[in-house]
Amino acid sequence: MTFLTTSCAGCSAPVALDMSCLLVAVVKDDEVPGRLAYICPACRELRCEFVSMANVTALLAAGGTAMHVDFRLPELVHQTSGPPLTADDLIDFHAELTTADGPETLFGGDRGAQ
Ligand SMILES: [Zn+2]
Repeated sequence: MTFLTTSCAGCSAPVALDMSCLLVAVVKDDEVPGRLAYICPACRELRCEFVSMANVTALLAAGGTAMHVDFRLPELVHQTSGPPLTADDLIDFHAELTTADGPETLFGGDRGAQ
């Protein structure tokens, strides 16, 4: 097990926290976006602290749990053509997946061809 040793921001007790008990978050568009949350084993209060993005990365790599990571998603650059899928299309697709031939027939039996 890996532990983070720190001082509780509330009661100042030195604590050793199992990395699996830490919640790490990135708050989008915040001036200091990194957050660390844990329950102090000494005072049993939920503590939230600011952490640098470098420490967010290190905490996640060491086994901290990502509570909510909100990175901006890239814009959709590939526009599809054709009409949008309907409920009937999904029902037909499900029926094709459950046929005896399986989904191979949906792709012409040669899934590697483009
Ligand atoms: Zn405490």
